[in-house]
Amino acid sequence: MPIKDPELLAIFERRVLLKKVCRKCGALNPISAVKCRRCRSTNLRPKSGELAGKKA
Ligand SMILES: [Zn+2]
Repeated sequence: MPIKDPELLAIFERRVLLKKVCRKCGALNPISAVKCRRCRSTNLRPKSGELAGKKA
């Protein structure tokens, strides 16, 4: 289901990209997370960056 509204799309991308990925198990955690919710590792990296990646 493609999103056509650019405003919605921006919000959606922000919500998807504002995550942290566990380097140990690869689980997605909230951006505010300090520890992984799955393996409780503190080895998290932010999943951010390519906000303009898939713009046509
Ligand atoms: Zn983990």
